[in-house]
Amino acid sequence: MAQGPGFCPEGEEVKKMEDNTTKTKRKKILPRELRIKIYNDVHKLRKRGLSHTKIRKEIYRKYGVWIGKSTISYWTRKIHSPYNGRRIPSLELLKPSEDLANVIGVRLGDGYTYEGSSDYVIGLRAKDKEFVEDFGRRLGNVLGRAPIRPRKDARRYIVEAASKTLYELLRKPIDLKRIKPYVEHCLKCTAAFLRGLFDSEGCVSKEGYIKLYNTNYEVLAYAQKLLLRRFGIESTGPWPNKQKGTTTYDPRTGKQYKTKKDCYYLYIRAESLPKFYRHIGFTVRRKQKRLEEYLRRTGKL
Ligand SMILES: [Zn+2]
Repeated sequence: MAQGPGFCPEGEEVKKMEDNTTKTKRKKILPRELRIKIYNDVHKLRKRGLSHTKIRKEIYRKYGVWIGKSTISYWTRKIHSPYNGRRIPSLELLKPSEDLANVIGVRLGDGYTYEGSSDYVIGLRAKDKEFVEDFGRRLGNVLGRAPIRPRKDARRYIVEAASKTLYELLRKPIDLKRIKPYVEHCLKCTAAFLRGLFDSEGCVSKEGYIKLYNTNYEVLAYAQKLLLRRFGIESTGPWPNKQKGTTTYDPRTGKQYKTKKDCYYLYIRAESLPKFYRHIGFTVRRKQKRLEEYLRRTGKL
């Protein structure tokens, strides 16, 4: 569903702030400078002894936005603060880390980026809670923030954060040259990158065999090279897999659709599965479990 001519981002925002639930497709995030101003006012008003309800009204009168009661509660109890979070002004200041490498890997799979009305957003929407939680924790670490906790829509868990610098690194089309220094920083970073990619688009059959799907041939060829050169993990492909389009999530419409693009896959050779388990592995429990079952059955674990 496209945003029609009557779409008004401000109106949308107020409505969402009033009803701080996850009924709406995604919650708009106010610019951080504005959140900091509001945060300071909330503390002043609280010191004057105003109730949460009165504070909300006062903030609405001054700024025209309704902030959630839970936000006021978190702020006054100092659990959250818009000051948490260091702004990373440019890509040069983004430091390589396992967390960043993993975020990049997830982004090449299920993760997404979009340019919002006032923010640049990086997000992940997926069904495995532990996967989305891990992504939220890592994304928080990269941005110098507390872990970003997932919210839930009808079928999936969602984590989103705003960062222009990270958006510039991760926006589509993905430029492999741009991500290489982070992915290939050290063995640990490369493993974290591959884990993010396989958590997103790795498919483990009931028998325990692993395939990695992607619509981007270059991404698969790159992953294949890293697996072999860094970890001695052998794979075949990339093979074309035209019949089955991958499912993509469009954060703007909140809808899933099958891509019409060609899809390819890598097949990890069975002899290399113990190495895959040792060096890469999965955060997604159901995938890790199938791999472990295979290794146990064949006496390799
Ligand atoms: Zn590293």
